Amino acid sequence: MQEPATKRHKKHKRQKRSANSFVPFVLLCGCLVAMVSAVNSSSTAEVYDLVILNGRVIDPESKTDAVRNLGITNGKIKTISRTQLEGRNTIDAHGLVVSPGFIDLHQHGQDEENFRFKALDGVTSALELEVGTGDVDRWYAEREGKSLINYGVSAGHLAARMAAMKEPVTFLPTGEAARRAATDAEIADMKQRLEQNLKRGAVAVGFGIQYTPQASHWEILEMFRVAARYGASCHVHMRNAGAKEPASSVQALEELLSAAAITGAPLHVVHVHSTGGPATPKLLQMIGEARSRGLDVTTECYPYIAGMTEIKSAIFNEGWQEVFGIDYKDLQWAATGERLTKETFEKYRQTGGMVAVFSMTEEIVVEALKNPLTMIASDGILEKGKGHPRTAGTYSRILGKYVREDHALSLLDALTKMTLMPAQRLERRVPSMKNKGRIRVGADADLTIFDPQTISDRSTFQNPAQPSAGVRFVVVNGVLLVKEGQLQANVHPGVAIRAPF
Ligand SMILES: [Zn+2]
Repeated sequence: MQEPATKRHKKHKRQKRSANSFVPFVLLCGCLVAMVSAVNSSSTAEVYDLVILNGRVIDPESKTDAVRNLGITNGKIKTISRTQLEGRNTIDAHGLVVSPGFIDLHQHGQDEENFRFKALDGVTSALELEVGTGDVDRWYAEREGKSLINYGVSAGHLAARMAAMKEPVTFLPTGEAARRAATDAEIADMKQRLEQNLKRGAVAVGFGIQYTPQASHWEILEMFRVAARYGASCHVHMRNAGAKEPASSVQALEELLSAAAITGAPLHVVHVHSTGGPATPKLLQMIGEARSRGLDVTTECYPYIAGMTEIKSAIFNEGWQEVFGIDYKDLQWAATGERLTKETFEKYRQTGGMVAVFSMTEEIVVEALKNPLTMIASDGILEKGKGHPRTAGTYSRILGKYVREDHALSLLDALTKMTLMPAQRLERRVPSMKNKGRIRVGADADLTIFDPQTISDRSTFQNPAQPSAGVRFVVVNGVLLVKEGQLQANVHPGVAIRAPF
């Protein structure tokens, strides 16, 4: 099935170069059937479900950046044209950018509350690939037919470890699984759980090694071996943070690069800057070098100088101040917005909850964003309006602050990091991702239409549940989810992103 897809793809490219307007295609039974329709002749014009007129269409794959009209029918892009199109519904996109919908590979919050903010930030597909789940079938069943945007999940090593150690599976481990080494029998049990979930279409394998510091190097290798057998990328929160040796983030990346080299599993390092801190440029250099030697390694970052995590987790074990180079005052309690002291830290460490960790500098964030290796991924989660502003604001913040105001990166480069690169990361295991992250004939009609002059984030650490401004229209699988900046009621066009099973 790979081969015809590649050929189709090449054919489309040739078409684009040779013709002024596109000849629409329909794909039937895996074959290519060219429709003999003259798009230049208005008398035979097709009426599409939805047309998007006069927008500045930017497609990172073909590097198109030009005013075009799009015709969409049955959830797919059917034509891209310079000529007028007719549709049952019409969007006038004059003065607006029409981009492939943004694909967030790192979004923990996977419910209506979170997806409302994601949609208004331009995200059309959000996947929970770092923490993942212990029960892929149940996870997808819970969302089917009820989701605003497309959703997907990995098989989680954390969940497998908690289950193998016979403790309740929570978001992040705080019991035995956070504290002790696994027996050989438990490692075998974890492998079997990952395998079972991969057989049921898990998109990837997720790891949070810093949350399970007693997981041996052999345990991690064993999990990578399972991922490699299924062509699944390993999305890993690394074992160590910061620059301090031993146990630096450089050493942690060495562990993962060797696991990828030994097993053949693709590797995706999550939030490289929040783990790396001052060592971030070194980590990016190492990833680039590993890629040049043929390893399939990718990474991601988000545009904020603080991370957020569970205060009860192993990240705050003895010595965290030295690891991150910060103190109590650099922690902000998500529930109230207060900065912590030794006393309040110890109190909350007992009760548990989310805490923002101000451990990065603006220079590190900009360096990570500008580097061609990084994709954009939010690491977002909101619960009853509380959480990190990255959930609601990541994509608009990049397009507003870092592209328009600071000129830190170009619009095309930013959109490439938000659309094409995340789609490509998953294509080997999930071939349907070849139809996302692009604006081309035959691609899924997941589109984000925004005003490049006004797009901006409004969420803050004090008030994270503020929707972004400037995203004017969002189309998911051909359905209008956001219209003139407003979420539409009673539409749930999101579908599962899942590996074939
Ligand atoms: Zn993480």
